[in-house]
Amino acid sequence: MQQFHKMDKLQIAQINKYNVIRCLMRESPINRAAIARRLGLSIPTVMFITETLLNSNFIRSIGKGVSSGGKPPEMLEIVPERFFYIGLDIGRTMIRATAVNAVSRQVACLEEPTNNPAPEKRFVDRIAAIILKIAGRLKTENDRILGAGIAMPGLIEKETGAVLFSPDFGWNNIPLQEWLTAKIPFPVLVENANRALALNEVFLMEGETSHTTFAVNLGYGIGAALVIGEDLYTGASGTSGEIGHITASAQGPVCHCGNRGCLEAVASGAAIAAQGKSVLESRGASKIRELAAGDPENVDAALVFRACELGDKEAARIVNTAAEYIGIGLSMAINVLDPDRLVLCGGLMRNGPFFLEKIKSSIGTHRMRQAGRAVVISTGRGGEYSTANGACRVLSNSLWWNRKLPV
Ligand SMILES: [Zn+2]
Repeated sequence: MQQFHKMDKLQIAQINKYNVIRCLMRESPINRAAIARRLGLSIPTVMFITETLLNSNFIRSIGKGVSSGGKPPEMLEIVPERFFYIGLDIGRTMIRATAVNAVSRQVACLEEPTNNPAPEKRFVDRIAAIILKIAGRLKTENDRILGAGIAMPGLIEKETGAVLFSPDFGWNNIPLQEWLTAKIPFPVLVENANRALALNEVFLMEGETSHTTFAVNLGYGIGAALVIGEDLYTGASGTSGEIGHITASAQGPVCHCGNRGCLEAVASGAAIAAQGKSVLESRGASKIRELAAGDPENVDAALVFRACELGDKEAARIVNTAAEYIGIGLSMAINVLDPDRLVLCGGLMRNGPFFLEKIKSSIGTHRMRQAGRAVVISTGRGGEYSTANGACRVLSNSLWWNRKLPV
């Protein structure tokens, strides 16, 4: 019994320490009394914890703050360069890498085209080289790099970080986390890319009240993730969020997941590009042909959007159909989940505000009357590196929850 009592005390002390760290991560610079108030802890407890954190150089004093009557309080902040996280967004078109410091600020980034992801082993060697390249840019010791978060499209096995199935990459059962761990001198954590993106977007909304956020990634593929409060909803077997593979058109084209007429097969960046290519191959004059200089290889989704803006009728038909289908898919999500935030992110959303308006109009037509009345629809704020930065966040959350920060 005595033993249990001791354990509890230790656990409570650790929980208090981690809560103080989280408070400092969010609200630095902050003084001890404010931390105590925020967390409902006593001043001596906060003083003891901050002393430990000061001694391990995890936090530092930045001088006196503004007095609210008594003597001015000492302000504390996390030491930004105390440690770093690396994040990778392995997209089908581009690989983006980022490094963020202890206060979540991006301090380095790089990108390169994905090209051919086969054979898998050679591709994973490339990923490892990119991780080491961005780590090198930090010019710091490896033990200050707490790990690399890897955002990968597809179904990821939570326990092992293996890619069970990635239609975008044509991968089945690839032990990505295990292969990378063998090549990298710090921990590696693989998570689904849409979840990494969603976590980052929710982080960027901080201060705005939001209980349930449904974040959708509209890019080469289509995927989504649900964040309740600040926690990811993963589902019973970890495969939630696959909105790209709901059936949008039962007679539609075959999707690379093997099913027919998935939302991703009719409305993703890859689908828009494929439809643009077939216009170029089968019809006469069009802006798509002009912009691509007659070569189907030059046609991507961005080119079809440009042709649409230049008034091309076929391009407009493709873009309008994609927006219509995306709106249908999102209406289903709104009807089922009733979220208070719907955040639309990804490459397709960077083609101008008119696409958002078309999607909103389709949602207006297809969602059930009165359903999801509270939902606010907006575009992502994190830019091209949102998923890569989210991969850092997945890692830092995991270290925080598992009490594995070096403090
Ligand atoms: Zn599919």
